[in-house]
Order: sequence, then structure tokens, then C-alpha cells
Amino acid sequence: KEELNIIQGALELRTKTVEDVLTPLQDCFMLSADALLDFGTMSEIMQSGYTRIPVYENTRSNIVDILFVKDLAFVDPDDCTPLKTITQFYRHPLHWVFNDTKLDAMLEEFKKGKSHLAIVQRVNNEGEGDPFYEVMGIVTLEDVIEEIIKSEILDE
Ligand code: ADP
Repeated sequence: KEELNIIQGALELRTKTVEDVLTPLQDCFMLSADALLDFGTMSEIMQSGYTRIPVYENTRSNIVDILFVKDLAFVDPDDCTPLKTITQFYRHPLHWVFNDTKLDAMLEEFKKGKSHLAIVQRVNNEGEGDPFYEVMGIVTLEDVIEEIIKSEILDE
């Protein structure tokens, strides 16, 4: 039974897209680029439990950087270091994908190992104005794997 589920999940990677499995932008834990890494911010980061945190400028749909929690190893909350100091030091590349990317293609991308988190965007051509890119959310390797095994992976 379980094996059948997994086989079916694997077959569905060819038809399902990242849009089907992403974490929507409004549910993402993110930081503003002008944040200070004081005790309050550092506690929120630790409590969120996430290892990668998108950083936005001005509005949440404008993701400009990504912070890894391990980047904080040498940061002392008493110094109130600007987040920018850290992100500009590490400069982790952002990985963008379109909403209609199939999950098998996404899995191949993740296997290349650049990053196991991608930011999902779509072309918004609704309405009067020119089409524009719109950030929909984030997708990680775990989201794809959950689709294969068809059950939630509970975090430690
Ligand atoms: P982590 O290593 O941080 O636990 P995973 O890659 O294991 O993250 O992903 C676990 C789930 O959490 C996935 O559904 C993913 O989309 C979501 N996720 C990852 N980072 C964030 C974040 N910063 N805010 C909200 N959800 C996130």
C-alpha cells in the first residue's frame, strides 16, 4: 500500500507543478532588509525554527536576499548588527523558478545542489497594465519529497 502510494507520487511529479506545493508568500517567515540583529530579532528567528529566511526590501513581495541561520553563529545580539552586514558578507545566491515548473524538473534542479530553496514567481498579466513578475511563495526540496511520499514530514 505504502509502496503504491510512493510510486504514484513519483509518477505525479511529471504533472504537478511547484505552484501545487509551494508555501505561499503570506505564510513565509521573512525578515526586512533593514532589521537589526538584536536579541528580539534573533529570538524570533530561533523560534521560527526555519534554517533559511528570505529577506525583503520595503514590501514582502520584493525578496532581495536570503539569510541562513548558520550565518548567525558569530553574531552577538548585544552588538545589534544590521542584517545587511551579514547578508552582504555571505551573499547567498537567490534561486528563482516559475510557478509552472514541473516537480520532476524542480527535483533535478535541487539535486544539482545550488540551493534547496527556490523562490516561485509567475507572470501576472491580469488587469490593464503591463505584465509583471509576481512572487508567489517559496518551495524547498522537502515540499517535493512530501509529494513523493504523500505525507507530511514532521520537523524535529
Ligand atoms: P527547514 O530546513 O527550514 O525546516 P525545509 O526545507 O525542511 O525547511 O522545509 C520545511 C517546510 O517549511 C516546507 O514546506 C517549506 O516550504 C517551509 N519553509 C521553509 N523555509 C520557510 C520560511 N522561511 N518560512 C515559511 N516556511 C518555510
